[in-house]
Amino acid sequence: MQNFVYLDNAATTIPFAELEQIYSDNATNFYNPSALYKNAVAVRTKIEAARRNICKILGGEHGNIIFTSGATEANNLALNSVNYKNKGLLTFVAEHPSVYATAKNLQNSGVKVEFLNALKGGQVRFPTEEQIKSAAIISVMHVNNETGAINDIKKIASYAKSINPQILVHSDGVQAFGKIKVDLQDLGVDMYTISAHKINGPKGVGALWIRRGVNVKPLLFGGGQENNLRSGTENVFGILALNYCTNKIVTDLEKNNKKLSSIKEQFLNSLKSNNLNFTVNGENCVPNILNISINGIRGEVLLHMLEDQNILLSTGSACSSKKPDNRTLKSMNLQDPQIKSAVRISFSAYQDFDVQSVANAISVTAKKLQNNIKNN
Ligand code: PLP
Repeated sequence: MQNFVYLDNAATTIPFAELEQIYSDNATNFYNPSALYKNAVAVRTKIEAARRNICKILGGEHGNIIFTSGATEANNLALNSVNYKNKGLLTFVAEHPSVYATAKNLQNSGVKVEFLNALKGGQVRFPTEEQIKSAAIISVMHVNNETGAINDIKKIASYAKSINPQILVHSDGVQAFGKIKVDLQDLGVDMYTISAHKINGPKGVGALWIRRGVNVKPLLFGGGQENNLRSGTENVFGILALNYCTNKIVTDLEKNNKKLSSIKEQFLNSLKSNNLNFTVNGENCVPNILNISINGIRGEVLLHMLEDQNILLSTGSACSSKKPDNRTLKSMNLQDPQIKSAVRISFSAYQDFDVQSVANAISVTAKKLQNNIKNN
C-alpha cells in the first residue's frame, strides 16, 4: 500500500494507526455490554460515554444517536421511520444510493416520492412551497460524494419548517462531517447520518443522530439494544473507534482544511500549467474532493492507466462504479462526453504526496489518451 498514491479518500480513508490499540483493548475487554457483571458494565459505560461525546461534538445534545452498521443502515432507518400517511418524501436526485435506492423502494411500495434536481454547481435545487407542504420528510445530503458540492442545510431546514412545521428534515452528513463544521443545533435538522470509515475509522459502523421527540421505527428486531431501536450486540470496537476518530477529526478540522485547500489549489495549478484541457465539476465544494472532466478521454481508461503508475483515484462514487448512469453529473446538466470523462480525486490531510508529480502523471497520461483518440 505504501507504494501507492491513494487519492480515493471519498470512497474510504486509511484507518488511524491508533485504532490498533483500541482493537487490542477491545480484544482484552471482550465482554457483551448487555451482561450484568462488572467487566461487562465497564464496556457498557464506555459505549455510553462515546454516545454522549459524539452527540456533544455534533452539537446534538438535544437528541441522541443510534449506532448502526454504517451510513447505509442509518439512512435506511431515517427514511423508513417516517409515518408517511398521505404525505411524501422529498429528496435530492444526486443522493448517495443508500438514500436514492431507499427512496425508490418506498416509491415502489406506494409512498409519493419527489426528486429535486441539481443546480449547475451541484447544489440541490430549492424545493417549492407546494413540494414542502406535501412532504412528510425532506432528505438532502450535506455534501455530495462525487463533486464535494456543499448544500446549505441550515437554509433548507429553516425554509422547510417555516412552511410546514411538521416536516422532518434529514441530512446524510457522511461527506460533510470532519470536512466542514457540523453543529446540529444550528443546522436545525431532525436526523443526521455519519459513517466512521470516511473519517479514518473502521468500515461497518456509523450512527444516526435523532432529535429528541422524533419517533424512529426499528429496522432490526431482537434483543432490544440501542434503546429498542437497533437490536444486535453492539459493535464495541467500531463504536469506540468512531468516538476516537470523531474527537481527532474535529480537533484537526481547521488545520486539515488549510492543508487540503492548499493541496487542491496546487493540484489545479499544476494541471493548468501542464496545459491540460479540463473543467471542474461542482462549485462551493469541500476542499478534499476535486471532480474534473478531461476533454476527449474516458475517465475509466485514465483510471486504469494511472493505476499502472500506482496512482489510485476514481470515476465517481465507489458504490455506483458498476452502474453506467451518473445521476449526479447528469442532474447538473453535464453532457455525455463530460460525464464519461469525469474523474474524482479525493485527498486526505493525513497523507502527503508529491502533488506536482501526480498532477504531471495525470496530465501526461490524459494527453496520451487524447492523442490516441485523435489518431484513431
Ligand atoms: N452516504 C454517502 C454520502 C456516502 O459517500 C457513503 C459512502 O460511500 C454512504 C452514505 C454509505 O456509507 P457506508 O459505507 O457507511 O454505508
